[in-house]
Amino acid sequence: MSQNKQTLSFQAEVAQLLHLVTHSLYSNQEIFLRELISNASDACDKLRFEALNNNALYEDAPNLEVRVSFDPAARTLTITDNGIGMSQQEAIDHLGTIAKSGTKDFMGKLSGDQKQDAQLIGQFGVGFYSGFIVADKITVESRRAGLKAEEGVRWVSSGTGDFEVETITRPARGTSIILHLREDAEEFLNAWKLKSVIAKYSDHISLPILMEKEEWKDGELINPNDENGGRQPGGMVKTGEWETVNKASALWTRPKKDITDEQYAEFYKTISHDHEAPLTWAHNRVEGNTEYTQLLYIPSKAPFDLWNRDKKAGVKLYVKRVFIMDDAEALMPTYLRFVKGVIDSADLPLNVSRELLQESRDVRSIREGSTKRVLSMLEDLAKHDKHTAGEGADGVTDVVSEEDKAKEGKYTAFYSEFGAVLKEGLGEDFANRERLAKLLRFASTTSDAVTVSFADYKARMKEGQEAIYYITAETLAAAKNSPQLEVFKKKGIEVLLMTDRVDEWALNYLHEFDSTPLQSVAKGAVDLGKLQDEAEKKAAEEAAEAFKPVLAKLKEALKDKAEDVRVTTRLVDSPACLVVQDDGMSTQLARLLKQAGQQAPSTKPVLEVNAEHPLVKKLDGSVHFHDLAHILFDQALLAEGGLPDDPAAYVKRVNALLV
Ligand code: ADP
Repeated sequence: MSQNKQTLSFQAEVAQLLHLVTHSLYSNQEIFLRELISNASDACDKLRFEALNNNALYEDAPNLEVRVSFDPAARTLTITDNGIGMSQQEAIDHLGTIAKSGTKDFMGKLSGDQKQDAQLIGQFGVGFYSGFIVADKITVESRRAGLKAEEGVRWVSSGTGDFEVETITRPARGTSIILHLREDAEEFLNAWKLKSVIAKYSDHISLPILMEKEEWKDGELINPNDENGGRQPGGMVKTGEWETVNKASALWTRPKKDITDEQYAEFYKTISHDHEAPLTWAHNRVEGNTEYTQLLYIPSKAPFDLWNRDKKAGVKLYVKRVFIMDDAEALMPTYLRFVKGVIDSADLPLNVSRELLQESRDVRSIREGSTKRVLSMLEDLAKHDKHTAGEGADGVTDVVSEEDKAKEGKYTAFYSEFGAVLKEGLGEDFANRERLAKLLRFASTTSDAVTVSFADYKARMKEGQEAIYYITAETLAAAKNSPQLEVFKKKGIEVLLMTDRVDEWALNYLHEFDSTPLQSVAKGAVDLGKLQDEAEKKAAEEAAEAFKPVLAKLKEALKDKAEDVRVTTRLVDSPACLVVQDDGMSTQLARLLKQAGQQAPSTKPVLEVNAEHPLVKKLDGSVHFHDLAHILFDQALLAEGGLPDDPAAYVKRVNALLV
């Protein structure tokens, strides 16, 4: 035992994760190999990138590779790469803590229900720790490229509370992961098994994966069809020769026709750490000023940290098969941060810093091209979402291809996972705003399901209707029951119900759709324009005239709370409601900003009253005028989900009237 050995504890989250890995991920043991080979491949990518500016890092081993070997007697399986390696401190930091942001939140979401947690963890990607699915002890030996042989590190843990590290001498650059297999994982001590797992998950890794060739010793052929090729006694002996067991060509460089859907899905899982198959993907060679290959995926499920706008992206940039960066914003706009994939260009200079690349015109054009590609993938899904075979206008039954059929329902599925993020694009990507607007879906007063597009809405607009009406609220119930909708309901005018937090903000950037203005029903005076007939207009004017003296008193009583008080025709059953001036910030948005600790301009709302309502009629000449006025205002506030400034005073006033 060397003297420099130290025992350290795992960060609490790691210990928790390990417990989960060992207790809930049994159903699919073999994924550990995919995860470890994927790490090895990343390590080689990193070396290649650092070596662009420091060729000496290759030392005497310029061919990057992964070797998989096993020792049945010792019951170990070893995965060795000659990538970047780890220094002692890196081993402590990277294998003892989880640096990824959002991990704490993730842990908080775990329910203790193993099945559910295993699902979640699949999304999270356990990476290195997946080794503990099959091993009761893992030894990692590593040396970072560029460090001396004596500066190697050995890291050992049995995956419980702590791990040991010590300094070792390791001539070879890179990392060996030595798994001491559990009894129930002995099947991985078999070359045939390992090769089949590698073929399944890691064929598309561009790095060669090598295994030592074995040959039969004194074997006799018994059944040529069984998995050992039919030989029994004697067993296999290693020959000392290594052979490549995967295709070792990056998937995206192969022609589309040679790639099966399963291979696309497996590749997705490797790059995304998602355990579910992707919803859809696009694989293209883009020609033009900048030539590149793009392979872009849309996941089926949102990751747990979807709302973390700063997280690392899922799109990786390669230049001639060399990994360069996965800088989120340089390759994909933030509102498309859920997209995963690979972009490989031969036109970009290899030997250039990430900073310069981000500024490069070529990278910008790749970003634009990839954004457009994602939007057209979504448009395609949207187009086929409701596709059903039926008779067309020409009396001929439409033929729906299998491919189109497979797309049915996918857009709705996509939208329920990522729709809210997509809306951020209205404020972020002006160039594509119109395409984005077409992709948006909402609930409405005629549909609880979030499936109404602006185009659907327009097709259903009433004769004489001049605007697309919408309301924002915190919940669907609050939106549906809002007093501001009363007159629209009465007249059978559809109103879009918007309940995502981002709606209010996003709608600031969209003033019209296909030349029809968007109009919030909570902003400004309602002007139903041609939808209101002459008799109604006249009645409203008369009521307003008769109400004038009371109105003046109301304004005076509420002058500290309301910007103005006016008579409205938008209410049918409710006595009053609050609206904001046309150019004002909605009370809903102001409230959200305040909750988020931001400053919101404190503009006073306008109180609109329904002169026909019994409570409002009662105001005239009432001895309780002052109290009633305030109750009217506070109730309007309550009705839209707000709180009176002085709730106690409100309660007192109501009680006084009740007694
Ligand atoms: P992830 O790969 O998703 O970051 P992991 O838990 O798999 O998470 O690995 C944690 C970190 O450990 C990696 O980010 C990397 O820095 C380091 N690491 C893991 N395997 C290797 C390896 N084979 N060579 C070098 N570094 C590695």
